[in-house]
Amino acid sequence: MSPSDNTDAPRIWVTTLLFSITFIISVIGVPLYASTYGFDVYQYLMLAIVIVLCGISITAGYHRLWSHNAYTAHVIPRLFFAFWGTHALQNSILVWASGHRRHHRYIDNNEKDPYSIKRGFWFAHIGWMLRAHESGKEDFSNAKDLLKDPIVVFQHKYYLPLTAASNILLPILLGVLHGDIIGTALLVGVARIVITHHTTFFINSLAHMWGKQPYTNSNTAKDSTLLAFFTYGEGYHNFHHYFQTDYRNGVRWWQFDPTKWLINALRWTGLATNLKRVPTFKIREAQIKMQFEKASSQLQSSHAPNLDAWKSSLEKEYQEFSNTLAEWTTLRTEWYQTKREALHDALLEKKEALQTKWESAAVMTRFKEMEYTLKMQQKRLKLYNINFEAAMA
Ligand SMILES: [Zn+2]
Ligand SMILES: [Zn+2]
Repeated sequence: MSPSDNTDAPRIWVTTLLFSITFIISVIGVPLYASTYGFDVYQYLMLAIVIVLCGISITAGYHRLWSHNAYTAHVIPRLFFAFWGTHALQNSILVWASGHRRHHRYIDNNEKDPYSIKRGFWFAHIGWMLRAHESGKEDFSNAKDLLKDPIVVFQHKYYLPLTAASNILLPILLGVLHGDIIGTALLVGVARIVITHHTTFFINSLAHMWGKQPYTNSNTAKDSTLLAFFTYGEGYHNFHHYFQTDYRNGVRWWQFDPTKWLINALRWTGLATNLKRVPTFKIREAQIKMQFEKASSQLQSSHAPNLDAWKSSLEKEYQEFSNTLAEWTTLRTEWYQTKREALHDALLEKKEALQTKWESAAVMTRFKEMEYTLKMQQKRLKLYNINFEAAMA
């Protein structure tokens, strides 16, 4: 069977029926019930709350915590994410995270990426779960860390009874409390599953199709603010694929990333520690590299008369960029060395430890200066690209 052939693999009836039945009930049964009996504001409110609880448990728990170890979480949020993640009906943490790690490692590779967009929208969105494709074969060899997590292991072992119980009992319980069991079960039970499913699925499909590529064009992942709005911040997928260990997907403070805000809130309350952040310098470096690539490809395809002047000014910028990068790399190596020595000195209670501390402060200032140099260069290159486009128009 060819890996790009999406129809030859044997059908998985459990998922096919699950996705089809829940979808049909949501688009036919729910509107029919709404027009006959109606839903009240409490039912819509419960729907919204459960959607958010399930969705954010997938993004903050299944994705950033368990798949990427982007931070360390206390047992309380871990249990919370495991509970609502189970309710989201997206398979166990172990299956989800190991598949997602393969997606990152083999992105766009039709044979190894479980949901490669190169096999089309339908396949990346949902098709990969409907048939037993070779690329989707379960393999936990990349998730040995998760096999040591008792919550992950317990949830995986009892996944079927756990998800069945929560998805049957919780909507019924909410329905009993509300007084309309069938209506609540349809809305908060079934329609909620479909909405949460497709919100997550859009990250595998649309986030590899729509948007910009500010950090890398070596894969199909894109940054889309619109998608981030519906996916708790996961729409900044180009950043995420380049810097997967960062707990942020929307890296700028103003970018809509509720998952990042939740993780920050957990840190303030002491429930999350060790939040991983990529150095700002590295983020700017990636952006500037993309700017250079854009500028040089524009220069190559242009036949303007004053091309030499544009070329030499770009070469000058590139030289400055290379110098800053080289200095940063050297300083970073020295800084790690200093930190190691400081730790060693502190262990031996040497007086020199104080001296090292002062040296460290000077190094930090230089890091800030270099970050600023890159920020300025980024602005200049943006202007360069705008002016070049205008000159060539
Ligand atoms: Zn992706
Ligand atoms: Zn990821």
